[in-house]
Amino acid sequence: MKFNTKTIHGGQQHDPSTGAVMPPIYQTSTYAQSSPGTHKGYEYSRAANPTRTALENSFASIENGTHGFAFSSGLSAIDCVLKMLNPGDEIIAGDDLYGGTYRMFTKMFEKYGLKFHFVNMEIPSNILPLINKNTKLIWLETPTNPLMKIADIQEISSLVKKIDSNILVAVDNTFATPYLQLPLDLGADIVMHSATKYLGGHSDIVMGALMVKDAKLAEELHFIQFAGGAVAGPQDCFLALRGIKTLHIRMQRHCENGMAIAQFLEQHPKVAEVFYPGLTSDKNHAVAKKQMKDFGGMVSFKLKDESRATAFKILENFKVFTLAESLGGVESLVNHPVTMTHASIPEKEREIIGITDSLIRLSVGIEDIEDLLKDLENALNN
Ligand SMILES: *Cc1c(COP(=O)(O)O)cnc(C)c1O
Repeated sequence: MKFNTKTIHGGQQHDPSTGAVMPPIYQTSTYAQSSPGTHKGYEYSRAANPTRTALENSFASIENGTHGFAFSSGLSAIDCVLKMLNPGDEIIAGDDLYGGTYRMFTKMFEKYGLKFHFVNMEIPSNILPLINKNTKLIWLETPTNPLMKIADIQEISSLVKKIDSNILVAVDNTFATPYLQLPLDLGADIVMHSATKYLGGHSDIVMGALMVKDAKLAEELHFIQFAGGAVAGPQDCFLALRGIKTLHIRMQRHCENGMAIAQFLEQHPKVAEVFYPGLTSDKNHAVAKKQMKDFGGMVSFKLKDESRATAFKILENFKVFTLAESLGGVESLVNHPVTMTHASIPEKEREIIGITDSLIRLSVGIEDIEDLLKDLENALNN
C-alpha cells in the first residue's frame, strides 16, 4: 500500500463481530473468560484493548514498522524507551530538544544513574567522541523544536551502527510525521511521536506513540508499556485513528501554508531570521531535502527588536493564530518558547542554543493562507 492508502486502511480490519467499518470504542477494562486463561485474546485493557490494537496497527503501518504502541502521552512514550536502559548507561541526544524531553532526561532519569550528553546533531560526527562502551541510545529530534535544526538520520544511524550495532537510534518524528520522513527506513530502530500533535491533528487528545521494526525490541517495549501502565484509553485511541485517516491531506496543506509563511517572513523588515528547512537559504536545506518529502508546517522566526516587550506585544496582536502551547492541529497556533514550551530549560542553556526572547514559533494550520498572512502582517505591524 502507498502512504495515502495506509493512513486510511493500514493494519485495519472491519470489526469481526459486526462488520463496523470504524473500530468500536471498546470502553471496557476487562474481558469474560470461559475457563481460567481461556479468552478471545483480551484479558485486561492495560495489556491490550481492541480499539488500542486497531490504532497500534495503524501506527506500525504508517511508519513502515512491524509493531506500534499507544501511550497516554508523548512523554510517557519516551519514558518507556528510557526504562529499557540500566544505571550507568549513556545517551547521546540533540541539544535542541522539546523542553519536556530535556526536563525528563535531566530531572528524572539522571538521578537513576543514566548519563546524558547533548550535542548539535547537525554535524553527525559530533557524536563520535562521545561514544563509549556505555553508550546505549542516540536520541534525535529532526526537525528540532523550536529551532528547526535538521539531523541526517541515515548518516547518524550508519555512523553509530558501524561502531556498535547494539546502540539504539531513536527519532522523535513528531514535527515531520511519516508523511514527510520515515526514520525506520533510514536506519533508526525506534520512532516516537507525540500523537497529541500531527497524528491526532485536531488538538483534542494527549497521546504518545512508539513504532519499531524488530520483534525483540517490540517485546521489550510492550513489557514496559504493560508493566509500567501508561497506556492510551480507548476513546483517545479512536480519535487518534480518526485523525490519522486525514494525515496526508492535512500535511499537504500544512506544508503549502508553512512555505508561504516562511517566505513572507523572510522578506519582512521586522524579522531578523527565519527557521524553516524548506527555504533554500536555510543552512540545513540540502539534508532536509534529502530525507524529507516536503518541509512541514512549523516555522520559527526571530525579531530584529530583541526585547521581550516587543515580542509580547506581537503575540497579543494575533487574531487567527491562537497564542497557545502545542502544535500540529488544524488550527494555527503561535507560541513564545522562552516563556511557554521551553521555560523548563535553564536560561543559560537556552541562550547558548539560541532560544531567546525575540524567538516566536508558529504551528501553521490549514486555514486559508490569505487570512493567515493578513493576521501575521497585522500582528507584526501593530
Ligand atoms: C509535545 C512534544 C512532546 C511531548 O509529547 P506530549 O504528548 O505533550 O507528552 C515530545 N516531543 C515533541 C517534539 C513534542 O512536540
